[in-house]
Parts: sequence; C-alpha cells; structure tokens
Amino acid sequence: MAKRKAKIKVEKAEAAERVKKIYPILAKAYPKVTTALRFGNPLELLIATILSAQCTDARVNMVTPDLFKKYPSVKEWANAELSEIENDIRSTGFFRNKAVSIKGACQAIVKQHDGAVPDSMDELVKLPGVGRKTANCVLGNAFGQPAIMCDTHVIRLSRRLGLSANSHDAVKLEFDLAEIIPKKKWTVFSHVLILHGRNVCRARKPDCENCQISRYCPSANRPDLW
Ligand code: SF4
Repeated sequence: MAKRKAKIKVEKAEAAERVKKIYPILAKAYPKVTTALRFGNPLELLIATILSAQCTDARVNMVTPDLFKKYPSVKEWANAELSEIENDIRSTGFFRNKAVSIKGACQAIVKQHDGAVPDSMDELVKLPGVGRKTANCVLGNAFGQPAIMCDTHVIRLSRRLGLSANSHDAVKLEFDLAEIIPKKKWTVFSHVLILHGRNVCRARKPDCENCQISRYCPSANRPDLW
C-alpha cells in the first residue's frame, strides 16, 4: 500500500505571513512573468488554454500559429466540422474532448456574446468546456484582471509551502489563496509560483538546497512532505 504523505498544519494567519515573506523574493527571482502560452487576443488565449489541458505549453505553442491562421475568428471555429477540429488539434492529446469544448464555447460566444469572449468569471464558466482554471487564465492574462490560476504547480507549491489545507481541491484552493494574497497580486503571484515550480520546486525532485525561499518553507528538505 502507498505510504500516506505527512501533512502540514495550515493556519491562515501564518500562511498570509508566509506569502508576505516569499512574494518579494519570488518576484525578484522571476521579474518577467506572463503565461508561456502565445496568443494575440482573448479568443486565441481561450483556445490555447483549452488545448493546454494535459499538454505542455511548448507543444500548444507549436500548433497554435497554424490553427490561428486557419481559424482567424470565433465564427470559423463555431462553423467548422468537429472532425476537422479534432484532426487539427490531435497532437495536443485528448483531442475529442478539446474539440467539443472549443466548438461549443465558440458557438456560445457567437450566439450569446456577439462574437466577443466575455470578460467576467460568471460568463466565462457558462461557456461549454470552460472551468474556473481556464477562465482565470483568460481573465488574468488577456483581460488584465486579478486571477488566481491553480495549475499543477500552484497546487503542489501551495501544499508544500503550507498555504492552504485544501490543495487537493483546485476550487477550494483558489478561494483560500484569494484570502491570503493581496488581490492586485493574484495574477503575478500565480505566475511566480508556476515558474518556481518549473525551475526549482519540481514535482519529483525539489531543489531545496538552491531554493530562494527555503527558510520560509515547512517542506524544505522534508521528502515526507513532498
Ligand atoms: S524549500 Fe524545497 S519544498 Fe520548499 S519551496 Fe523550496 S524547493 Fe520547494
């Protein structure tokens, strides 16, 4: 039987203090933060974000230039045959579900939003195939609104850093983080956590020896907590 991981006790006030300590260090370490997905407008980011599920950003960036040429606006996506979209996005994996989401979301945008991607959480999550994670990515990166993006890195680092007791549930985690991170820093804090997760606090082998925030991390050099 798999050994159960030890757990960090999370106190909200302590977690908020930890955010205050680690944010300036991470902001300095990663001064240029933005999504790695390439896009030119909110629709392109919406499509790229849907494609990025279970796929690397690098792979998505390889396929999107041709896709955005072939489908320059929401109408082309909405009117395309599902099988053709499937074929065009096949290399990103889970292409059947993704094609249904993209076509469905674009049809709804044409019908209900005059062809413009909506800029609110309430409206975005009503689009077929769009959850809070995708919506936050679009709001934070394409519309410049405060948004917490609970991707795999944010989930893992929030657990290791003891920022939330709910890191197993992305939606609860998002609400926990919203309480301990100043709102105007939501988007940038998500980005620095993502970059730190990619560069230092990696899933299998976190580099605690060279981690700039190790003195504030309850999981530093504690494999039982990774
Ligand atoms: S000290 Fe280790 S576990 Fe903590 S954030 Fe740094 S790399 Fe991750």
